[in-house]
Amino acid sequence: MPAYSAISAHTNPAVAAFRDDVLTRFPYTLDARAWLSAEIDFEVADLASTRGGGYWIPEENKVYLFTAQYEAAIHELAHAWWHERRIGQEEALMEATIALSEERDPRYRRLRDLAYGYIHGIPAQGWAGMLVERNDWEMYAGMASGMMADLRLVPPYIRRFYLSMYTLLPDDAPSPARMAPHE
Ligand SMILES: [Zn+2]
Repeated sequence: MPAYSAISAHTNPAVAAFRDDVLTRFPYTLDARAWLSAEIDFEVADLASTRGGGYWIPEENKVYLFTAQYEAAIHELAHAWWHERRIGQEEALMEATIALSEERDPRYRRLRDLAYGYIHGIPAQGWAGMLVERNDWEMYAGMASGMMADLRLVPPYIRRFYLSMYTLLPDDAPSPARMAPHE
């Protein structure tokens, strides 16, 4: 086991408090809370900022965040969660993302638009998208932060890949992202 740094949730109570805030403010399952708390190192460089950004560092089994932004935390924690669970599901996730890019139900429009960019790229920005790179890895984490852990924003054929990590909220529950004090 590597030594934990001074900005790790394993040694720093303020970082642990932010991690626990993410894992309880957003509808993580009990399994996911336990696993992400115990098995993953979680570092935040600057708790005073919410500017965003970060990495998942698989060799170190570590989520590293520049700041205490919920969106970045949700994104990088999703990378950590999917890293080994993806094995054998890569193609299925990409097929589901293609289906989402063509989804006609208006409830899912926002994530449909996100998926459309992943599949078709954004030519005006010179971006070919993720499908050409077979990048299920980034699709998974991108949709996780795109929906801010709220599975109501994606159709059931996408939800199923996230149901071990997130709980599906009731229709009338408020949006956790909208209730949050910042992004
Ligand atoms: Zn990512």
